[in-house]
Order: sequence, then structure tokens, then C-alpha cells
Amino acid sequence: AQKLLDVKGLRTQFTREQGKVNAVDGVDLHVNKGEVLGLVGESGCGKSVTSLSIMRLLKNTPGKIVGGTVHFGDRDLVNLPENEMRKIRGKDIAMIFQEPMTSLNPVLKIGRQLEEAIMLHLKYDKKQARQHAIHMLDLVGIPRAAEIIHEYPHQLSGGMRQRVMIAMAMSCHPQLLIADEPTTALDVTIQAQILELMKKLKADNNMSILLITHDLGVVAEMCDRVVVMYAGRVVEEGDVLDIFDHPQHPYTKGLIRSVPKLRQPVKRLESIPGNVPDLTNMPRGCKFAPRCAEAMAICHEKEPELLVNEGRSCRCWLYDDAAKGEK
Ligand code: SF4
Ligand code: MG
Repeated sequence: AQKLLDVKGLRTQFTREQGKVNAVDGVDLHVNKGEVLGLVGESGCGKSVTSLSIMRLLKNTPGKIVGGTVHFGDRDLVNLPENEMRKIRGKDIAMIFQEPMTSLNPVLKIGRQLEEAIMLHLKYDKKQARQHAIHMLDLVGIPRAAEIIHEYPHQLSGGMRQRVMIAMAMSCHPQLLIADEPTTALDVTIQAQILELMKKLKADNNMSILLITHDLGVVAEMCDRVVVMYAGRVVEEGDVLDIFDHPQHPYTKGLIRSVPKLRQPVKRLESIPGNVPDLTNMPRGCKFAPRCAEAMAICHEKEPELLVNEGRSCRCWLYDDAAKGEK
């Protein structure tokens, strides 16, 4: 498999009153050509900061990339001048968010928003851009596209707005789509439709997707491979079936247990006790230790490394044979 996006040792720092904290702390992940990579974890684990760092969209946050590389093809996005980055954003890499209202401009008509992106990146003239905009809205299943272009975002339903976002993201034929909780705000029926649409567009365009979600149901539906994040770190990685059939990291096991089993009466949701650690007050050893039922003495002392083994990786002392003596 050929890597399209290759993130190595990514570190993003936020300045807080209490000092500097690493919201993303040495993250390694890659997305192969044509695959869907799921980035999962509870909210506050650094998933969104990872994606904003990849896109270099931290400007409106107190965050800053302080280490690592983000290769997209042969270019390192971390060190690209902003004007070069602007050409990649929206063109080669597009992004969609949970709430389209935050990325759609409320005072611009739908058509105009699509046309501006299309004219900028594809160098179409106004007439071609309008045709392409209508075509894209058709493609994502928006009825009456030729009329919708004259409407404002607030005149559409949440599901329709998300389709507009997807149309906009897809309009310049990106190689990579970064989708951050794209269906979380939608009801189940619309959610299923949007996921189907993303699958279809991905297949038709040979695109890769980095799908950020806390929802393992969505992962099972969409992803080829999974990266699990906890406290700004990657704690497990593997093929989706391997991860679901044989989760290794106790955090991943907890996430999987907390998914309601389909077609089975739900007795209770087994969620993971406790909370994601506060970045300003991180546990010393394994960051999951305070919530882990399998924690040993070493877990509270030393942080385990991410060990790679036959296409799987896991950051947990339970799988570190070299540490067995110390346990
Ligand atoms: Fe649990 Fe220890 Fe593994 Fe951390 S290293 S997940 S505390 S067993
Ligand atoms: Mg998030």
C-alpha cells in the first residue's frame, strides 16, 4: 500500500494558564491511498487537534505544532509556507466538520460559497463554476439543486447542510478527505444516508478518508484501519476486523464494550469508568492507568512505548515481553 499521508512524531502544544501542555504528544499515523482510516477515542483525546494540526488550522486556537512531520506525498506540510498550504487546503485535502454551520458562511448563498472554492482551486470561470456547483449538489443528492444555490445555509435542514458541506469538500476532487465527526449531529436515518454517500463518493473518486469519530459503529461501517487515541497519544492501531475481534489495549476493549450490540436487547451500556485525564495534570506512567482495571505497579511508574508487531501496534505493558521481568 502506498502512503498518501504520513504523520510522524506530531506534537501540538497549547499554552494554558498553568503552563504548556501537549494536546497531541508524538502521534504517528498514516493514511494509504484509497483507504479509510478511522481515528477514534473519547472527546478530549486529541483527535480534532491532530486533524487541525495536519491542516495547519490552529491559527484561531492557542495551539502550535512544536514537533514532528506531516508528509503529504513528498511535501512536509508542517514546514510549508502558508500560501502553499492554502493551495492544498480545500483542493488536495478537504475537510468536513460535525456542524456545517461553523464552516458554511451564514451570509453567503449556497451557490456562491461553492463557486468561490471552485473558481479558486479549479480556475473555472463563473459560468463553469455555477454548472459545477449544481452538478456537485446533484451528486450528493440535494433535490432542486438549481434552486438551492440561491438559498442561505440556515434555510436548509441539518442533513441537507451536511450534504452541501460534502459537495463543497468534493467539488475540487481532493485526494484526501478529513471528516471530523461528520454525522454526529444528525439523526440515525440521515446519518446512515450520509455515510452511504461518503462511501460512494470515495469509491467513485479513489479518494482516501481520515474519519474522526467517537462512534465505533461508524468505524465498523466505514473503515479499513483504525488508530485509537488516548490523552494525545496513539495507544493502538490495526485493521478494523483485527481490532474488533481482538482488541489488545484495555482502552480499546472498553470502547468496544461500550458499543451497544445490534439486534440484542441492551441491558446496560458498559462504559469506561472515569474521565480522560486533564492535560495540565497527567498521570506519570501510562495515561490510562487511573481508569484501567488491569493496571500493574509499573503502569503507574513508566509510560509504555507503542510497540509494533505484525501490522498491529499497542502501547501497553501487558504486551511488552521485555517488561515482564519488571512486573
Ligand atoms: Fe492498563 Fe497498564 Fe496497559 Fe496502561 S499499561 S493500559 S495501565 S495495563
Ligand atoms: Mg473533536
